[in-house]
Amino acid sequence: MQIKPKNYFRHRFLPIEVLMAPHRAKRPHDNGKKKSNKCPFCPGNESETSTELARISNNGKWLLRAVKNKFPVIDEEDGIHEVIIEHREHNKRFANFSVDELTLAIKFALERKAEAEKQPHIKFAALLKNSGRLAGASLQHEHSQLLAFKFVPEVIAAIQKNFNKFKERTGKCPVCEQLKEEVTVFENSYAKAIAPKASRVEYELAIIPKRHFAKFSEIKDEEIRGIAKILRKALKRLAKEGIDYNLLYYDAVADNDFHAFIILLPRKTILGGQEYLTSLITLIHDAKEVREFYRKAI
Ligand SMILES: [Zn+2]
Ligand SMILES: [Zn+2]
Repeated sequence: MQIKPKNYFRHRFLPIEVLMAPHRAKRPHDNGKKKSNKCPFCPGNESETSTELARISNNGKWLLRAVKNKFPVIDEEDGIHEVIIEHREHNKRFANFSVDELTLAIKFALERKAEAEKQPHIKFAALLKNSGRLAGASLQHEHSQLLAFKFVPEVIAAIQKNFNKFKERTGKCPVCEQLKEEVTVFENSYAKAIAPKASRVEYELAIIPKRHFAKFSEIKDEEIRGIAKILRKALKRLAKEGIDYNLLYYDAVADNDFHAFIILLPRKTILGGQEYLTSLITLIHDAKEVREFYRKAI
């Protein structure tokens, strides 16, 4: 059975789902400041975060921590809202992580997602990153967020349904087909970054493991490393241009088939009325231009 959180509202006929969380107005904002003595994610300020759920340490110092979100979008009885702190250093951005650090951060975050999905009452776990103010981040200290619900959001259910329909109609996986058809921006033995023709924003990238698997819980370490290498190149390009971004992790709902992938969503494009009214996106740069943008020497 799917249970909606207490603070969930759905429009009667528009595809709008809302979680009301007025207490989030009180969460701290660092306004993009380089240094912040009060940053709750910095070493020494551990007591400023909520309950710690997991950590990875080296020589008695933590490298990564997963903590309960102090300003959760949903109550604990309705689901999970975690913050994954991905580095000790306040000013270390994902783009400047080493491949090892990036691999470890993605692996740890995916483990937290898998852990949430193991809980019988959880129907869907969303893993995402907001990087920069235009991408919705209130604190710049590198972190990702995990949100898990007792229900499947409508957009996620629709994506799974569309995937299933394509497979039934053609006998093929739509993501495997994308890997063959779309413009490749970066590639290694384990993963590919493509510039999908149907993107939501300019310079959107889909970072896709080459092997077909439904859930991120099935990913192998070398595949995470392959993804990390590609992500690092793309993020360095965005950092050079000062573009904020989101990272969105997509995989199967329940035990459906799917092909897990990550979307890198640069937040440069301002959506207009057309996009809100019709969901029809107008793009200026085609896939080849996106490839040129990311491959330009830094
Ligand atoms: Zn910090
Ligand atoms: Zn596939």
